[in-house]
Amino acid sequence: MMGEIAMTGPRSKFLKVKCGDCGNVQTIFDRTNTRISCKVCGATMAVPKGGKADIKGEVMGRLDADQE
Ligand SMILES: [Zn+2]
Repeated sequence: MMGEIAMTGPRSKFLKVKCGDCGNVQTIFDRTNTRISCKVCGATMAVPKGGKADIKGEVMGRLDADQE
């Protein structure tokens, strides 16, 4: 069933995040213990927050593991 994107699903996901500074699109795991920087310009794209990634860039979409 198609619908709202669940924010509290049991699975971790990969997110496609666009850097707000240079526009680079990078795949980021939605659970992280470390700060994630843009590989191009070094801007912060996500910081760990309660075991989840607090995304700082623009989320373009997500890559679900079961989306075969
Ligand atoms: Zn960047």
